[in-house]
Amino acid sequence: MTTAITKKVALIMGVANQRSIALSCMESFLQKGDWDVILTVQNEKARVKVQKIIEQTKYNKNSSSNRNGKILGVDICDVSDQMSTEKFFRESLQDTLHNYNDDDDNNNNNNNSSNEHRNLQAVIHSLAFAPELKNPLIETTREAYLEAHEISAYSLIQVARESIPYLQHGNNGIENSSSSTSSSLTTLSYLGAGRAIPGYNVMGPAKASLESIVRGLALELGQHSDHPIRVNAVRAGPIPTVSSKGGITGFERMRQDVQIRAPLGNVTSSQVAATVYHVAAEACGMTGQTIEVDGGYSIVAGPSS
Ligand code: NAD
Repeated sequence: MTTAITKKVALIMGVANQRSIALSCMESFLQKGDWDVILTVQNEKARVKVQKIIEQTKYNKNSSSNRNGKILGVDICDVSDQMSTEKFFRESLQDTLHNYNDDDDNNNNNNNSSNEHRNLQAVIHSLAFAPELKNPLIETTREAYLEAHEISAYSLIQVARESIPYLQHGNNGIENSSSSTSSSLTTLSYLGAGRAIPGYNVMGPAKASLESIVRGLALELGQHSDHPIRVNAVRAGPIPTVSSKGGITGFERMRQDVQIRAPLGNVTSSQVAATVYHVAAEACGMTGQTIEVDGGYSIVAGPSS
């Protein structure tokens, strides 16, 4: 007799290279064993680079290890391009989930064993961009302001809208779930959303908008049919990546200040990813929240000792 098993899939958006927080998020899901992931990159150049990186890992699709989850695909999704975004969600993502389920059905039929299906259950939005980020806020042009907000904040609305049919495909509602999880969207933010931080410039208002979108979507998608979708943000402390190190003026000074003042000092990408996993996959009663993973920096005020 065939038993239906539903496996969970996380869509992780925003891998550029080895240092990307999204790559650590990928590992945090795959290590659990009961999650597979689909990754997105911005363009073909990044896709080639990321493919090479994952071929070196134990998580690639052809790996013989059964203990970890698998990377089901690396696809392009440029959120500044409506066509690219629609093509990814309406074609590539659908095909990847569909083909993988077919593969499983064939394998399982051959082995006369269980019947596995993969449902999208978590989306991690780990992407941002601001042109002219080195300009002080006062000198930010209208074009740069709009582009920063489009890519870093509005994209979460677009991603949420396109993800809904997949996230609700499975019976993932909190009440009904056998694994006490619900579908979720989780994004990455920074302290600069709520405080004026030197060098963060136009990204401050963009992250403030992103966090407000998190609350708005949490309200709307929590009430959505029988399958509520949770929406949360994780604020990471400063971590050296291409976007941060290359984009933010005074980034090293930010890290030095955290090292001196934060109770736990600077955080790693893996520490942030562990919380992203928890928020996305386990925190089934939490939505609309912004969680700090910053070594405690945000609780401290006054002169440093
Ligand atoms: P990263 O450069 O590795 O990731 C940023 C990603 O955004 C890249 O993959 C890039 O391709 C993607 N991106 C930019 N424009 C895009 C577009 N038009 N379409 C699709 N993707 C696009 O840097 P990261 O530090 O890993 O950043 C990931 C997230 O974490 C961002 O939201 C960032 O603001 C946030 N964050 C980073 C830090 C930090 O210190 N590194 C701290 C707090 C929050």
